[in-house]
Amino acid sequence: MFRRAARSRRHSLAGLIVLATASACGGSQPAAPVTPASAGGTTRASGSIELPVNEAFNRAVSRGTRTTTGAPGPRYWQQWTDYRLEADLNPVSKRLTGRGSLTYHNRSPNALSEVYVQLLHNLFAPGARHNTDVPWSVEGIELNRVAAQGQELKQSEKEGVGYEVDGTIMRIRLPRPIPSGGSAALEFAWRLRVPPDGAPRGGQDGEAYFISYWYPQMAVYDDLNGWQIDQYLGNAEFYMGYGNYDVSLTLPEGWLVSATGTLINATQVLSAQTRARLDSASRASGVIKVVTEADRTAGTSTATGTNGKLTWRFRADSVRDVSWATSSKYLWDATNAAVGDANADGKPDSAAIHAFYRPELRASHWDQSARYSRHSVEFFSKFILPYPYPHMTAVDGPTSCGGMEFPMMTCIGGQWDTLGLYEVTTHEIGHMWFPMLVGSDEKRHAWMDEGLTQFDQSQAMADFFKGFDDEERNRRNYLSFAEGGGEVELMRHGDRYPSYGSYGVASYYKPATVLVALRGVLGEETFNRAFREYARRWLYKHPSPEDLFNTFEDVSGQDLSWFWRGWLFETWKMDQAIDTVLTVGDSLEIVVQSEGRAPMPVRLAVTRTNGQVDSLTIPAATWFGGERRRAIRVRREPAVKGIEIDPEKNFPDIDRSNQAWPR
Ligand SMILES: [Zn+2]
Repeated sequence: MFRRAARSRRHSLAGLIVLATASACGGSQPAAPVTPASAGGTTRASGSIELPVNEAFNRAVSRGTRTTTGAPGPRYWQQWTDYRLEADLNPVSKRLTGRGSLTYHNRSPNALSEVYVQLLHNLFAPGARHNTDVPWSVEGIELNRVAAQGQELKQSEKEGVGYEVDGTIMRIRLPRPIPSGGSAALEFAWRLRVPPDGAPRGGQDGEAYFISYWYPQMAVYDDLNGWQIDQYLGNAEFYMGYGNYDVSLTLPEGWLVSATGTLINATQVLSAQTRARLDSASRASGVIKVVTEADRTAGTSTATGTNGKLTWRFRADSVRDVSWATSSKYLWDATNAAVGDANADGKPDSAAIHAFYRPELRASHWDQSARYSRHSVEFFSKFILPYPYPHMTAVDGPTSCGGMEFPMMTCIGGQWDTLGLYEVTTHEIGHMWFPMLVGSDEKRHAWMDEGLTQFDQSQAMADFFKGFDDEERNRRNYLSFAEGGGEVELMRHGDRYPSYGSYGVASYYKPATVLVALRGVLGEETFNRAFREYARRWLYKHPSPEDLFNTFEDVSGQDLSWFWRGWLFETWKMDQAIDTVLTVGDSLEIVVQSEGRAPMPVRLAVTRTNGQVDSLTIPAATWFGGERRRAIRVRREPAVKGIEIDPEKNFPDIDRSNQAWPR
């Protein structure tokens, strides 16, 4: 999801403080930092700076599903679901009627006598608990049929076979346990009303429909914590498993449809003209206008249907979710992106790039959207790993979409200048890697999703706008908030922040800034290698924070406990300064001070009058024992013109005015 830097949006602060009972199940949230760590666990420590013990993670290591090197363990497992979904949307009544057959594969070592299903649309149910603005008077999902293992189930709170719904979580008590290695068929029929503009992350504005969170979806059961059944309250995002989808969507003819997955019946739903233009877009070096204003009728853009309707069929492999968009007003631009060798057959691959938008949105530069998307997909394919999905599609949606990611899709609403539209587009496309391809728990660790993406966004913007410094914007946003004193540590659940501002800083700006600092600590080459290795190891899997920590330590060969502790588990700040510079014999003695609690290496550049620059480092470990000052000596000659700490501005120091000598 995108966060506008200068935000004027109304937000109830109190609403974000969520009752402790709103989140069920044993959490993976590390407890408040403890020093020293309790005995028995795998604790990593740098000197006296230790990480809190995460018992769930340590159990997973002892069971062999995770490792202390950061790679998935030899016994790593995760669940899988095959979905067959059908939906019929009536744009007049705004009602969606759906049916789904799911096959849930239990790859865990445990038999499951019950399963949990997410009904995220119940965020809109009357009386639903929520901590973001939700449109007044919508309704939740209406279930007309629930069946499991061939047996129709009744809603009942009593024990025994049946199902119950609590907010956005449905619990199904199965007729028979699913053995380890077995599977179960589930069936659902439902109706819902597509929410109006104002709904978070989707909805309709009367013309454009972005359909998200629209079907019963399996909750994640994982090796760390079992079922993750935290309620969807609007602010914290999602934790979704992987699966394959076969989706049939019935719409009026003349309405264009885009969805997660590959359109597999193009000859039935698209006109010959549209198909021919799409074909040329798959090879074109520029952007092809697939559907123009003049084309937007049944028989010209789409095929003509039966009884005025067309059924579009999409198939998606290894995705965490499926969303779709439709409108009779959309224009359609298309091109393609070179993604490198995504399927490891030694040959370069490409992905289709699409943009769907209304003509008025040219004022917000949507005629550039396909170009922006192509650059983003190509950039991240090189920077992280090749984009493996068949397409990436940017969709102009209701204003309240802001910017929101779905596999292969992004919904973007509102007005933008060129910088803003590129920024939100590349941000959402960055999310294809984190959390779509690397499937972390966005609810409990928002920073692994938003922080990594905010960092990636900065890299893409620097490339597209030739040196644009988005990292500096993130650093400023973090520092100004931190100096104001409202900061809380970011190792906490996305629904448990004291304010929207503290959530935003902890999930976006601070982790993005911390990654830049880590790059400064490790050096760019090592950092990039570790970052890519983390993505490669956890592609289509569910990493925890420890898996990220361990991968960076494994690849760099360094113990970074001090770094994670100071920047992620605490709100320690850094404030390095040049205290005094004295002549001592034939040397200059430089006294460096580290006033902030966050221990960081001191990178000093000593510039001499002959132009020579000496680079010196005082290691981070210097400060672990609580020492605050350290003197180092350099040669007096050739004469020293200036001394500066962190001239490359890698580190988020709260006061830069004391870092240069002479002042
Ligand atoms: Zn985001």
